[in-house]
Amino acid sequence: MKRVRCPKCDNYITFDETKYESGQSLLFECPECGKQFRIRIGVSKLRATQKEENPDENANENGFGSIVVIENVFHYKQVIPLQYGDNVIGRYMKGSKTNTPIETNDPSIDITHCIINVCRDKKGKLRYILRDGPSYTGTFVDNEILGDKERRVISDGSLFTIGATSIILREAQTKDTDSI
Ligand SMILES: [Zn+2]
Repeated sequence: MKRVRCPKCDNYITFDETKYESGQSLLFECPECGKQFRIRIGVSKLRATQKEENPDENANENGFGSIVVIENVFHYKQVIPLQYGDNVIGRYMKGSKTNTPIETNDPSIDITHCIINVCRDKKGKLRYILRDGPSYTGTFVDNEILGDKERRVISDGSLFTIGATSIILREAQTKDTDSI
Protein backbone atom coordinates (compact mmCIF):
# COMPACT_ATOMS: atom_id res chain seq x y z
CA MET A 1 0.00 0.00 0.00
CA LYS A 2 1.07 3.58 -0.69
CA ARG A 3 -0.27 6.85 0.50
CA VAL A 4 -0.78 10.32 -0.88
CA ARG A 5 -1.53 13.51 0.95
CA CYS A 6 -4.53 15.62 0.03
CA PRO A 7 -3.20 18.99 -1.23
CA LYS A 8 -6.11 20.84 0.37
CA CYS A 9 -6.54 19.42 3.88
CA ASP A 10 -3.42 17.25 4.35
CA ASN A 11 -5.46 14.10 5.01
CA TYR A 12 -3.69 10.89 4.00
CA ILE A 13 -5.28 8.58 1.46
CA THR A 14 -3.95 5.05 1.08
CA PHE A 15 -4.20 3.00 -2.07
CA ASP A 16 -2.96 -0.28 -3.48
CA GLU A 17 -0.21 0.70 -5.92
CA THR A 18 0.17 -2.88 -7.19
CA LYS A 19 -3.11 -2.43 -9.10
CA TYR A 20 -1.55 0.23 -11.30
CA GLU A 21 1.25 0.54 -13.81
CA SER A 22 4.19 2.90 -13.43
CA GLY A 23 3.42 6.14 -15.28
CA GLN A 24 -0.31 5.74 -14.88
CA SER A 25 -2.26 8.81 -13.73
CA LEU A 26 -4.71 8.31 -10.88
CA LEU A 27 -7.64 10.46 -9.80
CA PHE A 28 -8.31 10.70 -6.07
CA GLU A 29 -11.19 12.20 -4.17
CA CYS A 30 -10.37 13.15 -0.60
CA PRO A 31 -12.89 11.58 1.83
CA GLU A 32 -12.33 14.43 4.30
CA CYS A 33 -12.83 17.53 2.18
CA GLY A 34 -14.00 16.21 -1.18
CA LYS A 35 -11.06 17.70 -3.09
CA GLN A 36 -10.24 15.87 -6.32
CA PHE A 37 -6.64 15.63 -7.45
CA ARG A 38 -4.42 13.57 -9.72
CA ILE A 39 -1.10 11.92 -9.16
CA ARG A 40 1.04 10.08 -11.63
CA ILE A 41 2.64 6.90 -10.40
CA GLY A 42 6.33 7.10 -11.10
CA VAL A 43 9.09 4.62 -10.31
CA SER A 44 11.21 7.24 -8.54
CA LYS A 45 8.30 8.46 -6.45
CA LEU A 46 7.55 4.96 -5.19
CA ARG A 47 11.18 4.43 -4.36
CA ALA A 48 11.35 7.70 -2.44
CA THR A 49 8.50 6.69 -0.15
CA GLN A 50 10.18 3.40 0.66
CA LYS A 51 12.43 4.93 3.29
CA GLU A 52 9.49 6.62 4.94
CA GLU A 53 7.79 3.26 5.34
CA ASN A 54 10.83 1.57 6.89
CA PRO A 55 11.78 4.06 9.56
CA ASP A 56 14.74 3.52 11.83
CA GLU A 57 13.37 2.32 15.16
CA ASN A 58 16.27 3.78 17.05
CA ALA A 59 16.02 7.22 15.50
CA ASN A 60 17.33 9.75 17.97
CA GLU A 61 17.57 12.97 16.00
CA ASN A 62 17.34 15.31 18.96
CA GLY A 63 19.26 13.13 21.43
CA PHE A 64 16.16 12.51 23.58
CA GLY A 65 14.88 9.23 22.13
CA SER A 66 11.73 8.69 20.13
CA ILE A 67 8.33 7.06 20.05
CA VAL A 68 7.49 4.21 17.69
CA VAL A 69 3.87 4.26 16.52
CA ILE A 70 2.91 0.71 15.60
CA GLU A 71 1.23 0.25 12.22
CA ASN A 72 -2.45 -0.63 12.18
CA VAL A 73 -5.43 -0.19 9.87
CA PHE A 74 -5.40 3.58 10.40
CA HIS A 75 -1.77 4.38 9.66
CA TYR A 76 1.73 3.29 8.82
CA LYS A 77 4.45 2.68 11.35
CA GLN A 78 6.04 5.97 12.35
CA VAL A 79 9.08 6.86 14.41
CA ILE A 80 8.87 10.34 15.87
CA PRO A 81 11.85 11.91 17.67
CA LEU A 82 11.25 13.41 21.10
CA GLN A 83 12.54 16.71 22.41
CA TYR A 84 13.43 18.00 25.86
CA GLY A 85 10.38 19.20 27.78
CA ASP A 86 6.77 18.53 26.81
CA ASN A 87 6.05 16.38 23.75
CA VAL A 88 2.36 16.82 22.98
CA ILE A 89 1.14 13.71 21.15
CA GLY A 90 -2.03 13.68 19.08
CA ARG A 91 -3.62 13.22 15.70
CA TYR A 92 -2.05 15.35 12.99
CA MET A 93 -4.33 18.03 11.66
CA LYS A 94 -3.29 20.91 9.49
CA GLY A 95 -2.78 23.95 11.68
CA SER A 96 -2.79 22.09 15.00
CA LYS A 97 -0.11 23.06 17.46
CA THR A 98 0.94 19.64 18.76
CA ASN A 99 4.70 19.24 18.48
CA THR A 100 4.56 15.42 18.24
CA PRO A 101 1.79 14.76 15.71
CA ILE A 102 0.90 11.28 14.45
CA GLU A 103 -0.27 10.98 10.88
CA THR A 104 -3.31 8.80 11.29
CA ASN A 105 -6.95 8.30 10.43
CA ASP A 106 -7.64 6.82 13.88
CA PRO A 107 -10.72 8.80 14.98
CA SER A 108 -10.24 7.85 18.63
CA ILE A 109 -6.98 9.80 18.90
CA ASP A 110 -7.51 13.37 20.06
CA ILE A 111 -5.67 16.32 18.55
CA THR A 112 -4.04 16.71 21.99
CA HIS A 113 -4.15 13.23 23.47
CA CYS A 114 -1.25 12.76 25.86
CA ILE A 115 2.05 14.33 26.78
CA ILE A 116 5.50 12.88 27.40
CA ASN A 117 7.67 15.18 29.45
CA VAL A 118 11.38 14.58 28.96
CA CYS A 119 13.52 15.87 31.82
CA ARG A 120 16.68 14.98 33.72
CA ASP A 121 16.89 13.62 37.25
CA LYS A 122 19.47 14.83 39.80
CA LYS A 123 22.10 12.54 38.31
CA GLY A 124 21.48 13.93 34.84
CA LYS A 125 19.77 10.78 33.56
CA LEU A 126 16.85 11.32 31.22
CA ARG A 127 13.38 10.66 32.61
CA TYR A 128 10.20 10.17 30.60
CA ILE A 129 6.93 11.08 32.28
CA LEU A 130 3.61 10.33 30.57
CA ARG A 131 0.34 12.07 31.35
CA ASP A 132 -3.10 12.17 29.71
CA GLY A 133 -4.09 15.22 27.61
CA PRO A 134 -6.86 15.16 28.97
CA SER A 135 -8.33 13.08 26.15
CA TYR A 136 -11.81 11.69 25.50
CA THR A 137 -10.73 8.05 25.34
CA GLY A 138 -7.88 8.10 27.82
CA THR A 139 -4.25 7.03 27.82
CA PHE A 140 -3.39 3.48 28.84
CA VAL A 141 -0.15 2.00 30.13
CA ASP A 142 -0.10 -1.80 30.37
CA ASN A 143 -3.90 -1.77 29.79
CA GLU A 144 -4.40 0.47 32.80
CA ILE A 145 -5.96 3.88 32.28
CA LEU A 146 -4.05 6.85 33.64
CA GLY A 147 -5.88 8.96 36.20
CA ASP A 148 -6.65 12.63 35.50
CA LYS A 149 -3.72 13.98 37.45
CA GLU A 150 -1.51 10.92 37.18
CA ARG A 151 2.13 11.21 36.12
CA ARG A 152 3.55 7.86 35.03
CA VAL A 153 7.28 7.31 34.61
CA ILE A 154 7.87 5.19 31.52
CA SER A 155 11.12 3.74 30.24
CA ASP A 156 12.70 2.16 27.18
CA GLY A 157 10.28 -0.37 25.69
CA SER A 158 7.25 0.89 27.62
CA LEU A 159 4.06 0.36 25.65
CA PHE A 160 1.18 2.79 25.91
CA THR A 161 -2.09 3.04 24.02
CA ILE A 162 -4.09 6.01 22.80
CA GLY A 163 -7.32 5.27 20.93
CA ALA A 164 -6.74 2.19 18.80
CA THR A 165 -3.05 2.94 18.53
CA SER A 166 -0.10 1.44 20.40
CA ILE A 167 3.13 3.34 20.91
CA ILE A 168 6.51 2.20 22.24
CA LEU A 169 9.01 4.49 23.93
CA ARG A 170 12.61 4.29 22.74
CA GLU A 171 14.95 6.01 25.14
CA ALA A 172 18.01 7.80 23.88
CA GLN A 173 20.97 5.43 23.73
CA THR A 174 23.73 6.50 26.08
CA LYS A 175 27.03 7.18 24.36
CA ASP A 176 29.10 4.48 26.09
CA THR A 177 26.83 1.71 24.86
CA ASP A 178 27.22 2.69 21.22
CA SER A 179 28.87 -0.06 19.25
CA ILE A 180 32.08 0.73 17.39
ZN1 LIG B 1 -8.77 16.77 1.68
